Amino acid sequence: MYNSTKDKKGDRLLWGDEVECMVVEVDEDARTAKLSLRQAQILEDLEKAERAGELRDDNVSFHPEYGRYMLESTPSKPFSGEFEDLLQVEPNMALRRRIARRHMNENEIPLTLTSYPMLGAGEFCDPYTGTGTNNPASRSFFLPDEIINPHARFPTLTANIRWRRGEKVAINVPIYKDERTPDPFVDPTVPWNRDIFPEDANAREGAALRDHVYMDSMGFGMGCCCLQLTFQATDIDEARNLYDQLAPLTPIFLALTAASPAYRGYLSDQDARWNVIAGSVDDRTRTERGVDPAPPDWATHTHNSSPVIPKSRYDSIDCYISDTNACLAASPAHYNDQTLVVNNKVKDRLLEAGFDDLLATHFAHLFIRDPIVVFQELLEQDDAVDSDHFENIQSTNWQTMRFKPPPPGEESRIGWRVEFRPMEIQLTDFENAAFSIFIVLVTRVILSYNLNFYIPISRVDENMRQAHSRDAVNQSRFWFRTNIFPDDGKTAVGTYKQLTVNEIINGCSSAGFIGLVPLVRKYLHSMNVDLETLCQLDRYLQLVSKRASGELCTTATWIRNFVRAHSDYERDSRITQSINYDLIQTVNKITKGHGWDDPEVAASLLRGCKDFA
Ligand code: ADP
Ligand code: MG
Ligand code: MG
Ligand code: MG
Repeated sequence: MYNSTKDKKGDRLLWGDEVECMVVEVDEDARTAKLSLRQAQILEDLEKAERAGELRDDNVSFHPEYGRYMLESTPSKPFSGEFEDLLQVEPNMALRRRIARRHMNENEIPLTLTSYPMLGAGEFCDPYTGTGTNNPASRSFFLPDEIINPHARFPTLTANIRWRRGEKVAINVPIYKDERTPDPFVDPTVPWNRDIFPEDANAREGAALRDHVYMDSMGFGMGCCCLQLTFQATDIDEARNLYDQLAPLTPIFLALTAASPAYRGYLSDQDARWNVIAGSVDDRTRTERGVDPAPPDWATHTHNSSPVIPKSRYDSIDCYISDTNACLAASPAHYNDQTLVVNNKVKDRLLEAGFDDLLATHFAHLFIRDPIVVFQELLEQDDAVDSDHFENIQSTNWQTMRFKPPPPGEESRIGWRVEFRPMEIQLTDFENAAFSIFIVLVTRVILSYNLNFYIPISRVDENMRQAHSRDAVNQSRFWFRTNIFPDDGKTAVGTYKQLTVNEIINGCSSAGFIGLVPLVRKYLHSMNVDLETLCQLDRYLQLVSKRASGELCTTATWIRNFVRAHSDYERDSRITQSINYDLIQTVNKITKGHGWDDPEVAASLLRGCKDFA
């Protein structure tokens, strides 16, 4: 299939977003907010409307997700690169929200929250069936299996990840130590001395850490919502370059969109979801995680080049893949500075089929993972025309970037694409549109000016860790390349500096870096965009710019401040049902308003920023 699509040329820029949301059920009399598990009924209803032609002119499409309270929406036809098309994004996202809402019950609302603060705390969903021995897939202490999309794929993924790993997944995020948080913090909601399923490594065997919020199920990660963007490149070379150039930006945009400061009823000491999902699907065995030594005969059990695999299958990318970029070509080992585990058998086969070494390495690296779910009736495939087995591996390597080959059978229609996957979902359509449009414009800038953002992969990893920390936008520094123009690139090895997000986004003259927003503005002016469109686009650039400068706070900071300012909050990191209820109602109001253009909302967000100690 690669050989029949690798020379495909001249595809135009098409792109589309994926917005995930949660369905929350609000009871104003009881003052409760719960996740509604009616995904299937809502989607069925939406499908009915679609079949009846009701959504014909709307360019919207809805999809199921892991959580039974989640919905994903996309434009049904991708957007083009035309500037006027960019102005369709926010109305399209708003329309998706309105249509979804129309097919929900009166007391249900679609909210674009990244992590649901009460997920796994008390009776957080409706219906709530409790935990214990009646949830065989996850065996979670906290999440009933009923929150998992019941399609066979999802409970099977959950059970097989646990089975392959040999124990339940264990996610520990540091607790936010507030004035009255016990020190050390030993979570009273963790059943420390109880083995519900004796065959699992349980809390008392060290899976749960003190001073942390412990989570033990795939749903804690896969039940988070995010914002993803897919771009079509003109050909495979452009796609490979774009994949590489966007990779160093992924931690920066994780920090800038951070929106998940709370887990399982507690404030955490981190703002972003990424490592929670990484932990929630970490199916590596003890040997693969480097906990147990490899048996002497390990090589007879695997085609992998090493018994140890450094990262979860949900993690940041491990290697750059462009073979046309002079900068990477001049010092490949400098940038690809991590020893990569590959599936040797797959790599040999790809090389034999004509793949160059870099691309063979990229795909052979994906194939170090086992397929975790295979449907019996789909086991036998004609691999010359059907990409099911490949997609099975590809779609369960959840990395910061994804390199998407053209699907078979539609060669003439869909080209080589790359997906940008780190961003957290924002409360309003305005913000989600702003970040989507900004990344689209950054891709245009990268290609027009032939920019190089390469830094060694190990430093991207370091940035990724930094991006999780509380208020990373204002408190952390990130490795960034400052000589990004092609003339500078001749030196091949870049100049890397530790910059703040503000310096990266808005520029820093002392570091000799122009900044991404000024670059985008320069590009827009050179393109003769009409004034009206320019003004409209500038609203989005302003949001990105002000987030980076700290003038506006991140969603995570805003949520943290909301909780801390609530009259029921006891300064002990605990989020009660009533705090959560008021948070949900306020988020709903913000979502329905005019986003951050609304002076009242903007003021509260600005205030939130200043209140942050
Ligand atoms: P996945 O879940 O596999 O990442 P989805 O199908 O949910 O992908 O979403 C992909 C996004 O890409 C959607 O917004 C869709 O509109 C958009 N899209 C569809 N076709 C193309 C294309 N040829 N090029 C770029 N984007 C596309
Ligand atoms: Mg999708
Ligand atoms: Mg999704
Ligand atoms: Mg996607």
